[in-house]
Amino acid sequence: MKTIPEEPNIPRTNRWNMIHKSLELRLYPDSMLRVKTLPVKDVDGAIRALMEAMTAFMHAHQAIGLAAPQVGIAQRVFIADTGEGLLALANPEISAPEREELLREGCLSLPNIQVDVPRAQSVVVHGLDANGKEIEREARGLMARVVQHEIDHLNGVLIIDHGPPIVTIEDDQHG
Ligand SMILES: [Zn+2]
Repeated sequence: MKTIPEEPNIPRTNRWNMIHKSLELRLYPDSMLRVKTLPVKDVDGAIRALMEAMTAFMHAHQAIGLAAPQVGIAQRVFIADTGEGLLALANPEISAPEREELLREGCLSLPNIQVDVPRAQSVVVHGLDANGKEIEREARGLMARVVQHEIDHLNGVLIIDHGPPIVTIEDDQHG
């Protein structure tokens, strides 16, 4: 497990830059993609900085979701942004899955691979936000799919575990 120590003497922006520069995309079959991640004990400055760095990383890679193991951090943190506002959560859980559908997904960590993955069209997701506050939100459609995809990552599960891979040359990434 890689941890990010608090550096109280370093201004927040510099710390953020340091973390951002240290994030490195893990590609299949990197063993980090199969680890069982650890719950976040405390949403502190380091976790907030990680969430911000992951957000910049995700946007730079034109992805719509990113889980911490994908950038080498074995903690239960993911972010998602499908265009309806950013969702950043620690220790996320889902409940109330409804109406399964099969749709093709890609993943930043498995370039040029797509898989038809069955997912619930609607879920309730809850967890700790960047302020450590417990929040609960209903996710539908694409957002519901991204949330399920990213929580899979936190459990070491990849899209290729859901069905046969379809090799593409397109760069259609879901994170
Ligand atoms: Zn992924």
